[in-house]
Amino acid sequence: MTKYKLEYIWLDGKTPIPELRGKTTLRAFDHPPTLADLPTWGFDGSSTMQAEGKTSDCLLKPVALYPDAARKDAYIVLSEVMLPDGSPHPSNTRAKTENDPDFWAGFEQEYFLYKDGRPLGFPAEGYPGPQGPYYCGVGYKYMGNVARQIVDEHLDLCLAAGIHHEGINAEVAKGQWEFQIFGKGSAKAADDTWTARYLMMRLCEKYEVDFVLYCKPIKGDWNGSGMHTNFSTKYMREVGGKEYFEALMKAFEKTIPDHIAVYGPDNHLRLTGLHETQAIDKLSTSSRMVTRAIWKIAGRTPKAIPTRSFRAF
Ligand code: MN
Ligand code: MN
Repeated sequence: MTKYKLEYIWLDGKTPIPELRGKTTLRAFDHPPTLADLPTWGFDGSSTMQAEGKTSDCLLKPVALYPDAARKDAYIVLSEVMLPDGSPHPSNTRAKTENDPDFWAGFEQEYFLYKDGRPLGFPAEGYPGPQGPYYCGVGYKYMGNVARQIVDEHLDLCLAAGIHHEGINAEVAKGQWEFQIFGKGSAKAADDTWTARYLMMRLCEKYEVDFVLYCKPIKGDWNGSGMHTNFSTKYMREVGGKEYFEALMKAFEKTIPDHIAVYGPDNHLRLTGLHETQAIDKLSTSSRMVTRAIWKIAGRTPKAIPTRSFRAF
């Protein structure tokens, strides 16, 4: 028998954006555990904005399992939050999400690394040199000496966890980076993305660095962070056609406010039409964008397609 460290992680009830929580339990198995071996666990929802003090028990239902290379004999157990009667907690949006394995999604997670209340590489007073050399930048004067170490360690943790990680790049603002996660089915894509975020946040603790997803941390002439989302359905991949794609984009145009409403707070500060974004009330499309979205999702971004032409969100 081996005692395994099982880190149950879940999203708390913080609004408008939930935060990650996690705690460890030890369980003995005579084989590496599978999802089916893992028990439902519980926690005190009064400390996570998920319950009142009197009846504060919430349940953690394991839904995805990831090997945890940062600890010996360890797994990360991504969990949904359930009410004591076994029904999904109101904060549990995963339970309500349709999960069609033929819907493929690729997320480009942009983020800042922060230290001492400012992006890595920003001086204590004022600003570093303007944007330009940092995107895919190379060299100490642009990249510093810690960020790439964190980014590379994170990549290895993700790969060891079996996360479908697709790539990394330094982003446009100083201290800003991106990682890319692909998944077949919205559950797999989102589970891998949240677990990758968890691994990054936990990794950053030892560097005294914070992983910041806020969409516009630095006002002025500095890019904000978004999460470009590439997607395709079976129909788009196998039938598609110009007419269909044009109709699809038209349909999106009618639901801009619905989309913005679930993209997190303060996006009006980021989606201004500047800094490689479209204005918050407009949808831009091009045949090149559609082509890129499809090709990229298939893991074949051809060099001929300028990858920085698509900046809708
Ligand atoms: Mn990208
Ligand atoms: Mn990007």
